[in-house]
Amino acid sequence: MGLVRAGLSISRGTGLVDPSGNKYSKFDNCFEIFKRAIRHFSRHDFDATANATPVFYPPSPPLTSITQADVVGGSNATPLNQSLPYGAGGTTISGPWGKAILIGPNAFIPSNDPDATYLHELIHAYTNLNDDQVFNLFKPFGLKHLNPGTYDITLWIRSNCKNTICSK
Ligand SMILES: [Zn+2]
Repeated sequence: MGLVRAGLSISRGTGLVDPSGNKYSKFDNCFEIFKRAIRHFSRHDFDATANATPVFYPPSPPLTSITQADVVGGSNATPLNQSLPYGAGGTTISGPWGKAILIGPNAFIPSNDPDATYLHELIHAYTNLNDDQVFNLFKPFGLKHLNPGTYDITLWIRSNCKNTICSK
């Protein structure tokens, strides 16, 4: 299983390895903030979550008949390609087998960043918090809810978790 990304197929757990081999290096400050904000945060456990959470690109033709239940277990028969909220770059689904991250086309538009989108979803996968809870958790660290939806979380991550840039 892997994310089909701009012609590349990325296996699970390799999404944020940069050419120097440093995982998540462009988000180094984010991990300092995670340590301060998330109780018992462990980089080792975070990486283990990333490695255990498959990433799918739902518009990919081979995935058109795959449902949430096929991927994470349970009974949710919603197809993956209907599981991304409108306008969202990504979402995290969960079930009895675990979690999976869906990354959609909006993550790849020029004003977005698929790596920041992926890290946004990994925060959900690691903490089990929803978006409102994520906004509250990182409010003391410069995350502001300025725009409708949850894209501000991704924008904050893009700033290396330093501030929320107004997207418009
Ligand atoms: Zn979110």
